[in-house]
Amino acid sequence: MTTISPSLTLAITAKSKAMKAAGEPVVSFGAGEPDFNTPQHIIDAAKRALDAGYTKYTPSSGLLSLRKAVAEKFRRDNGLDYEPSQIIVSNGAKHSIFNAWLTYPEVVKVCGGVPVYIEGKKEDKFKFTPADLERAITPRTRMLIFNSPSNPTGAVYTESEVRAIAAVCEKHEIFVLSDEIYEKLCYNGVKPFSIAACSDKMKDLTITVNGVSKTYAMTGWRIGYLAAPADVARAIDSFQSHATSNACSIAQYAALEALSSPESEVQAMVDVFARRREKMLGLIAKIDGLSAVEPDGAFYVMLVVGGLYGKSYKGRKIDGSIAFSDALLEAEKVATVPGVSFGADDCLRLSYSMSEADIEEGLARIARFVSALG
Ligand code: PLP
Repeated sequence: MTTISPSLTLAITAKSKAMKAAGEPVVSFGAGEPDFNTPQHIIDAAKRALDAGYTKYTPSSGLLSLRKAVAEKFRRDNGLDYEPSQIIVSNGAKHSIFNAWLTYPEVVKVCGGVPVYIEGKKEDKFKFTPADLERAITPRTRMLIFNSPSNPTGAVYTESEVRAIAAVCEKHEIFVLSDEIYEKLCYNGVKPFSIAACSDKMKDLTITVNGVSKTYAMTGWRIGYLAAPADVARAIDSFQSHATSNACSIAQYAALEALSSPESEVQAMVDVFARRREKMLGLIAKIDGLSAVEPDGAFYVMLVVGGLYGKSYKGRKIDGSIAFSDALLEAEKVATVPGVSFGADDCLRLSYSMSEADIEEGLARIARFVSALG
């Protein structure tokens, strides 16, 4: 446990929440969840489940009906065939990632692994290349964690880019944990592609993680799921049965409704996100000294602020994303996530999971902050 670092972003989030609670007019670009409420038919399904008394243990791996609905989702959306026994429903995608024994850096460390970062370039929208992957591989490499559409960059790898990365993984027989939680949140006709769908061999090497949090505005319900090769799914089922048993039964019935219904409400939310994305990118382009790496998916923009480093706020030199984010919160009550937490110290992550009016207000304050820097 001593090797785990506390979340860098938590400090600033806590500070902005405390300021809000004290009545200060904070605009927070920190949100990592949709600001929409869960669609009504899903809430109604959860109420029906309560009235029907579905409040008891379910199988540890999740309701059979939900695992069938997840398998159907994989067939429909990703062209992937799984038996319900290869699907494990967990307490959020985060838990599914943890179940697969390797997640983002801190859990890799808990599991005794060494996380190695592959850096993508801004010019390539932060996407890494097959050659970058080749260079990072050593005889000790066990797994690639792949996240497209990506948090924080919004990058979406095209089918041919995914196939090129899969070819490297197949060559070296490296497992892939593919985190596809933002799959439905893509803009301008850009389409994600599931790495497991590249080939039978790749499917045997891949654990695909997804969940209902982002797609259906259900972050609080805590339902994620994974699909894996049969032996891996059996091992994960056994592990989860000791760690947490099943995910909340009522939330599973709600997720079943979400996955089994037409996606008109999802599309309506995506359309709103698309408008907010345009608004945010348009406003950033008007601010001297700032730029954005255009995202194709998720609901984040990486705002490039590094060009302003060296300037000062109230005599304090701004020399990195934490200093920038701190000063911005103090001066203009605008909360952002410092890019250093994602390995990009010249950037801030802005979420656009908020109203267009708040986006306008927040960016007007950022513009004022930038022009006041000495
Ligand atoms: N994966 C990514 C890339 C995320 O950004 C998040 C949440 O921010 C998660 C997984 C966690 O999802 P869940 O709420 O299903 O645990």
